[in-house]
Amino acid sequence: MAEFYTWRVMTTPAPDNTAKPTNFLKQIIEADSAALKWGAWPDGRPKVHTRFPPEPNGYLHIGHAKSICLNSGLAREYGGKFNLRFDDTNPAKEEQEYVDSITSDVKWLGADYQHGAIAGGLYQASSYFEQMYQWAEELITKGRAYVCEQTAEQVSANRGTTTAPAVSPFRDRPVEESLRLFREMRAGKHPNGKMTLRAKIDLASPNFVMRDPVMYRILHETHHHTGDAWCMYPMYDWAHCLEDSLEGITHSICTLEFRNNRPLYDWFINAINEGRGEGSSLGKKIHHPQQIEFARLNLTYTVMSKRFLLKLVEEGRVSGWDDPRMPTIAGLRRRGYTPESVRNFCEDIGVTTQESVIDVTRLENALRDHLNKVAPRAMSVLRPLKVTIENWPEDKTDELDFTINPEDPSAGTRKVTFGRTIYIEREDFMETPVKGFFRLAPGQEVRLRWAYFITCTGVVKDASGNVIEVKATYDPATRGGDAPVGPDGKPTKKVKGTIHWVNADRAITATVRVLDRLFSAETPGERTGNYMDDLNPNSLENLQGLIDPALKDAKVGETYQFERLGYFCVDKDSKPGALVFNRTVTLKDTWAKEAKKV
Ligand code: ATP
Ligand code: MG
Repeated sequence: MAEFYTWRVMTTPAPDNTAKPTNFLKQIIEADSAALKWGAWPDGRPKVHTRFPPEPNGYLHIGHAKSICLNSGLAREYGGKFNLRFDDTNPAKEEQEYVDSITSDVKWLGADYQHGAIAGGLYQASSYFEQMYQWAEELITKGRAYVCEQTAEQVSANRGTTTAPAVSPFRDRPVEESLRLFREMRAGKHPNGKMTLRAKIDLASPNFVMRDPVMYRILHETHHHTGDAWCMYPMYDWAHCLEDSLEGITHSICTLEFRNNRPLYDWFINAINEGRGEGSSLGKKIHHPQQIEFARLNLTYTVMSKRFLLKLVEEGRVSGWDDPRMPTIAGLRRRGYTPESVRNFCEDIGVTTQESVIDVTRLENALRDHLNKVAPRAMSVLRPLKVTIENWPEDKTDELDFTINPEDPSAGTRKVTFGRTIYIEREDFMETPVKGFFRLAPGQEVRLRWAYFITCTGVVKDASGNVIEVKATYDPATRGGDAPVGPDGKPTKKVKGTIHWVNADRAITATVRVLDRLFSAETPGERTGNYMDDLNPNSLENLQGLIDPALKDAKVGETYQFERLGYFCVDKDSKPGALVFNRTVTLKDTWAKEAKKV
């Protein structure tokens, strides 16, 4: 587990305190800390307390990862705390399955809200329902909220325009009447949609969010946490600021679409604080956190909204939320993404207040960078072509040294066995080579990685003329994959091509899922208005590969580099003796090449 917590910031030299903060959020936090705006922790350090507040109505995606890394990263950097909070205020869409997957994904990313330096805690908005209710009654009593009995259609018809104000005939009803009806709402006396509690703010506000927003709606639904204790539930704006306040959050960081909601966030807290303070019968003022917006993450070749992802799952376009092609954290994990690569990506793209779309290649490159350092190498062949080495004795085997990871000398070496029959990748042979093809071809010599030079001496074809076997001879002087050195200190011969191979006697067979991007358009849906039309028909190809026998006991979740092919991760569908690998990512960006061709 230890490696999950090696953040990039920790490997950089001690912070230079004179350096300018690298993003606008850090600038705000540092200015606040210098002024002790939020007070101090018991040990004297200025308070910084962030949170990640997902609604448990789906699986988390890479956009959420950005928010998690950002919030937990700030807590870590400034010696603060980080909470995971379920914003579980809409039982109609929420499920325990989602709660469990979110918890697991957040931990996987290394944002440990319960242990270690950033431990704030695990919270649920639903555990504040009683307190929220009390404050709502307080607002009614103060004349700041009222029960409105318009139907949804009436509210919508009466919402006004930019020049005309909204209308509610119930706005000026007596406080006592609203209080009675609100209590009846709680007691379950009214059906869904019969009435709502609304904040009394400004029906003419140019900001529609402020036109007497709904605070509570009736919803006779069982909640995964509170069961049937409630039959009305708080709306996002009313609930969210109170959740932040109750948890002592200092910087409530959210995405830009909530910019118009900020005045409402502040209005609710101010309305509660009205008349409160030292000596007031209402009690002390409540904590007033600061909402700050940043630009959400958008990625090319990806859809991210939970609604869109749910549809892919429901329509069976993918095998589930954790299909390894999905941009969900569960999907990325299953595909072989490492937490380090996701964190490094989030750090690398930074945080701004300007909407932009990030090239998905940057995410893939972050993964390549990390896997290149840590993934053990192996040789596997996905589309096998038999090669018989005719001058190799029938029953002789040789054991050759194989470097487990050239990027990590501490990984050491292991043995690979070589024999008379091997398999190479079909595309590494051409009977009539095109110009510049330096791999195996009649009369042409290549290096078999870590083994010998071989020269093609002939082919065997089936009835329809397809090459089904290649005959070759090997050069015993090239053992280990290098030609002997001559008197001048230089190799006595050179070959231009190096190819990978597996030993026919030892290789194991396994299912290899050659995965590619789920969408083939940079902006799915741009062409036709329906993102489903841009699903990549070639995003999944199932092959039976011949795999390096050293991987016989590979465990689910382990990732290897199949030399020359890419990175491959053992999938959870693996059974003893029947491994399944997902292609995590190719070694190079193959899409860049494709894009240029068109
Ligand atoms: P979606 O809009 O994809 O359905 P959501 O915003 O409804 O997701 P929530 O559970 O409400 O999902 O989000 C939890 C937190 O994650 C919020 O603070 C939200 O701002 C943040 N978040 C969601 N999507 C992104 C994104 N693409 N980039 C950065 N942060 C995001
Ligand atoms: Mg949202």
